[in-house]
Amino acid sequence: MGTMEIITRKDFRRLVEGLLGDYTLYGPVEKEGFPAFARIERFSQLRLSRTPTHLSAKEFLFPPRETLLRFDLKNGDVREVVDAQNQAIIGLHPCDIHAVNLLDRVFSYGTPDRNYLARRKRTVIIGTECTPDEYCFCSSLHTMTVDRGFDLFLHETERGFIVRTGTKRGRRLLERYTSATKAEKADLERLERMVERKEKMFRTRLDAEPSQLPLIYRGADSSPVWDRIGRVCYGCGSCNHVCPTCYCFDVKDDITLDLEDATRYRVWDGCTLEDFAKVAGGHNFRKARSARLRHRFNRKFRYLADRFKGLFCVGCGRCSRTCLVRINISEVTNEIIRETKER
Ligand code: SF4
Ligand code: SF4
Repeated sequence: MGTMEIITRKDFRRLVEGLLGDYTLYGPVEKEGFPAFARIERFSQLRLSRTPTHLSAKEFLFPPRETLLRFDLKNGDVREVVDAQNQAIIGLHPCDIHAVNLLDRVFSYGTPDRNYLARRKRTVIIGTECTPDEYCFCSSLHTMTVDRGFDLFLHETERGFIVRTGTKRGRRLLERYTSATKAEKADLERLERMVERKEKMFRTRLDAEPSQLPLIYRGADSSPVWDRIGRVCYGCGSCNHVCPTCYCFDVKDDITLDLEDATRYRVWDGCTLEDFAKVAGGHNFRKARSARLRHRFNRKFRYLADRFKGLFCVGCGRCSRTCLVRINISEVTNEIIRETKER
């Protein structure tokens, strides 16, 4: 794997139309003037977007609501529900693919999550290049480029696309639908220049290396920043829901009124929501919004780093972009870094 080829724009159209025949296809479309992931049914709907989408594509691998079990209470039968189909997601940016790689680790850890893993196995991932906006800071987290987690990765050029192949499945798709030709030295140099140009475009940067962040966050439990942002936070959960690496869910049961059937399902949850840490008896471990925000930021930069060998922020900027009161994860992190340096 890891080969590099060139395809033309006509090839690209043939590839997308081939995917439309073989898979349920998701990709960016234009929605009210903004790029958004949606089901693609015709090539003309696809708008490869260089700027990030408001919502990530995690819903196609980890749906917001998903049935896990069906109970027949009359007979005492329980049936597992695993709803996975062949699907393809096109237009994931490098940070989004890093996020999928993290979700793969989470859902394989301990007892493997059969629903996620079955869906992931049947999902083709095709990455595309991006341009950072003022919220993106992936270059500071080393997630600006990606080497694995995709079947194909397309870098658009004036002539068409430079294609990197990540899996045998990607190779088969390329051979089946395109007349890819081997990339030449000039194409590889062009790709290097594109990466260098992108690196220079970032307006947002963290003032510390990613490897230092778990320790920096460890020393920031009593930082004044938590009370300050806790006072303005709505506790709305939007930052959790747009985040491509937030994976917390709640499990609930629905029982029919005649008590004959029931389903067990999971729904996305979010650690910034008030009920997230509420337990029996009404006690809430993180009633204050400041405590919930501190928890969320620590989950991204500290708590999960040991268990999963990686930070859980990929620098996509979605949480900052979406927050109505402008709580900005890179600004907060830089403030904590500054406090650490001044101590
Ligand atoms: S940080 Fe912003 S998006 Fe997140 S819960 Fe608070 S107000 Fe909502
Ligand atoms: S924490 Fe914010 S910037 Fe980091 S991955 Fe999640 S949404 Fe993106």
